[in-house]
Amino acid sequence: MSKLNLGILGGGQLGSMLATAAKKLDINIIIYCDDKDAPAQKFSDNFLFGSYNDENKISEFINKVDVVTFEFENIPFNTLEFINKHKQVLPKPNINQVIQNRFLEKKFVNSLNIKTTDYVMVKNLKDLHNNVNFLPGILKTTTLGYDGKGQFKLNSKNDIEKIKIDFDNEYILEKVVNLKKEISVIITRFKNQTYEIYEPIENIHEDQILKFSEIPANINDNILNLSTEWAKKISEELDYIGTLCVEYFIDEKDNIYVNEIAPRVHNSGHLTINSHNISQFENHIRAVCGMNKIKTKKKFNAKMINLIGDDITKYRNKRIQENEFFFDYLKKEIKPKRKMGHFTTIFK
Ligand code: ADP
Ligand code: MG
Repeated sequence: MSKLNLGILGGGQLGSMLATAAKKLDINIIIYCDDKDAPAQKFSDNFLFGSYNDENKISEFINKVDVVTFEFENIPFNTLEFINKHKQVLPKPNINQVIQNRFLEKKFVNSLNIKTTDYVMVKNLKDLHNNVNFLPGILKTTTLGYDGKGQFKLNSKNDIEKIKIDFDNEYILEKVVNLKKEISVIITRFKNQTYEIYEPIENIHEDQILKFSEIPANINDNILNLSTEWAKKISEELDYIGTLCVEYFIDEKDNIYVNEIAPRVHNSGHLTINSHNISQFENHIRAVCGMNKIKTKKKFNAKMINLIGDDITKYRNKRIQENEFFFDYLKKEIKPKRKMGHFTTIFK
């Protein structure tokens, strides 16, 4: 029997780790990316470089694959739809349409009776001035933001005058939550009521970028149960196939809110490569390729450090212990705030 050909849109480190997991399952990986230096090409069997709007190039991709998934959520919806007419895209493109947009995403979550932060749509300066009761707040572009990009912290009314806001974009203004901690729950859904779910992961961000992730999370049983139940409900309601992550805020009074949903494998789940028998990447591949589900079990507690910018240099020369794992994303250039690699320690 010939190998299954899985196409992945996007060629960053998530693509690399998906490709590595696929290799183990004897699946062929074809990466499509609009960056000719995409690091995932070093880990994949085949690489196509082209814009996501280039119909000819996308058609070439379609001819090479049996099924398609994506490793970042900002692929144009029209591209996903176009591909889906010829080869199945999983998770389904219409899921992306909701989650790509912070406003629609929060509305969807609220419609399930799940709490998010308080937010309001802001389209112009007048809207902003009319909603100063949301301050201190964070103004976020409704689309295309990641790692804190497209976000402005507004402490008071005076701050509005100080920043230059480009109202070609739409925004949401979110109230600042007094964070006690942040956690995430990663779930892989295979079909109706069928999933593997990882225990909540505790996350620490620096400059709005994930810095540390750890299991077990130090949380009470109520938060453990709610975060797990909500992740199941969200994935069930979306009729999701594949790995999904729900990011949560916990405030000083132990209230829990959904921050955002990532319709893909997630940075906080990198530790599952070493802590579990089946990683978030392998589970994603198994689900989107229609393979069997294997009971996912924790082998070790673990902690992951993201290596951002220059951090990587030191680790490239480090002596690695037997319970430590170093992942170098092999990116062409070191840049500040760029995720260059990660480092996981397991605890036996
Ligand atoms: P991104 O899409 O860039 O990950 P997030 O909305 O998840 O955007 O914001 C990144 C980080 O910024 C969060 O993980 C959190 O640490 C901080 N943050 C964002 N919104 C809020 C908020 N309303 N209150 C407190 N902290 C926030
Ligand atoms: Mg986030």
